[in-house]
Amino acid sequence: MERKEEACVYKNPDAPVEARVQDLLSRMTLAEKIGQMTQIERVVTTPSVITDSFIGSVLNGGGSWPFEDARPSDWADMIDGYQNAALASRLGIPIIYGIDAVHGNNNVYGATIFPHNIGLGATRDADLIRRIGAATALEVRAIGATWAFAPCVAALRDPRWGRSYECYSEDANIICELTTLVSGLQGEPPKEHPNGYPFLAGRNNVVACAKHFVGDGGTENGTNEGNTIVSFEELERVHIPPYLNCLAQGVSTVMASYSSWNGSKLHSDYFLLTEVLKQKLGFKGFIISDWEALDRLSEPFGSNYRHCVKISINAGIDMVMVPFKYERFINDLTDLVETGEVSMARIDDAVERILRVKFVAGLFEHPLTDRSLLATVGCKEHRELGREAVRKSLVLLKNGKNVGKPFLPLDRNAKRILVTGTHADDLGYQCGGWTKAWFGQSGRITIGTTLLDAIKAIVGDKTEVVYEITPSEETLASSEGFSYAIVAVGESTYAETTGDNSELKIPFNGSDIATAVAEKIPTLMVLFSGRPVVLEPMVLEKVEAIVAAWLPGSEGQGMADVIFGDYGFEGKLPVSWFKRVEQLPLNADAELYDPLFPLGFGLN
Ligand code: BGC
Repeated sequence: MERKEEACVYKNPDAPVEARVQDLLSRMTLAEKIGQMTQIERVVTTPSVITDSFIGSVLNGGGSWPFEDARPSDWADMIDGYQNAALASRLGIPIIYGIDAVHGNNNVYGATIFPHNIGLGATRDADLIRRIGAATALEVRAIGATWAFAPCVAALRDPRWGRSYECYSEDANIICELTTLVSGLQGEPPKEHPNGYPFLAGRNNVVACAKHFVGDGGTENGTNEGNTIVSFEELERVHIPPYLNCLAQGVSTVMASYSSWNGSKLHSDYFLLTEVLKQKLGFKGFIISDWEALDRLSEPFGSNYRHCVKISINAGIDMVMVPFKYERFINDLTDLVETGEVSMARIDDAVERILRVKFVAGLFEHPLTDRSLLATVGCKEHRELGREAVRKSLVLLKNGKNVGKPFLPLDRNAKRILVTGTHADDLGYQCGGWTKAWFGQSGRITIGTTLLDAIKAIVGDKTEVVYEITPSEETLASSEGFSYAIVAVGESTYAETTGDNSELKIPFNGSDIATAVAEKIPTLMVLFSGRPVVLEPMVLEKVEAIVAAWLPGSEGQGMADVIFGDYGFEGKLPVSWFKRVEQLPLNADAELYDPLFPLGFGLN
């Protein structure tokens, strides 16, 4: 009888969260606990795996989607199927489904794609970012996912890093102000909400994840997964502050970084994960590992896995993004507990944290998708918001060759204009990495508006728009016929290590194309890049105007709005712009600071 009454506690939505956590924990077997600590990839997930192994979480890695053109409702069917399997397990603990919604719900065809963080950093607009978070939460929740692996709050200290575009800024103060994505995704906690305790407002919100703890943006030479060689004081000054702001907003999860701090891999660093993040900063949510990060604790990759499990769980990792070989992880961790190498107290602490987040997130009460949210995916209102973000993110680096004679805004009623360059009509390039595929893709990868589409839509009926992906000899020979040219060039798509780059030149001969056109026709160069790139002296001299558009996403009209003068330029550089790569790392703290454009630069 007593046990039966207790049975109601964890299922009772009115009982205090901590009482529900303790009640449920007391009923769990070791297998059920370790299952909760296991996160597996969608491609190895079946309903029976979830039910039989008590899996706590499923994720969709950046590079995978159910099928090329899966619609939001297909996703919802898939995720609800997994959830039903979890609910059918002995204790009916729901899974939490995580996805890399890092600039909108970017894995999903037709979702609104917002500018990548580097562009949002240029807006300096905390409220805008909060609204983007709220819109993203709806589009994520619509497909049944309840956890977004965002925001990345890394301080970008070296643009050679392949993840530069995932950063808001090089400057801790700017990043701190812009951590409002957390409140957007999770909802805003009340004033009295305890610092560090997880929070989620309701069914239109998703769990956020501050990443990657800590110092990932400060590695030597900007090497992805590299080593950050700084004192603890420097970590506290530059890299830790954004986490304080996230914790104040009740961020529910934190992802550990692949990188090392002074040679110690974060995934095995007890001091930083447990003593600093959990004890000193009071984080009460859970720490998720990064993808296959435990395998990366060993040389060669994946060897001595049991040892890697031991050191990472003991360091404070609570849930492991396995993501494929879950049996190996479960067996090794079970064995480690049985031999006493991982204590039961450590397991209970990890599971308590995971259950706490699941209760706070309301997953027990509302495990399945609310199909009424499907209408929000790529809806007009969100696209308008994306457009606003693009407008505010543009940084005007040059405007006219002579002082007092601005080149922009452009005349929308000009007779004949040339639009050219690899990036003028490529939605995939405009979105960058983490869009439909892990490192992105070129082409019409989703629904959206390219720069060319936006130009065509805004110019007068009588304006002839000539578009050529590369300007032909013929066109350049008859250049007098053009009032001006818009040349769109930039980086190709990449993610993580595939984006590490020590040269930072504009690919596809972007500089040459811009110069060649500018020789003949007054030219605006629109640069699509996830970071500062080399601006050759030739380019700087020849082109009339340069706009840094970053990776603006699906709403290209935002660029036309500003280029043609319906709105002014507001963006300010979120990072210092180097002159030569030899200057790197160049940031406002660098000793001999001599940038081409300083942090905060941006013409109006
Ligand atoms: C990245 C994370 C990401 C995870 C899941 C990793 O490779 O470092 O930022 O959240 O994959 O896709």
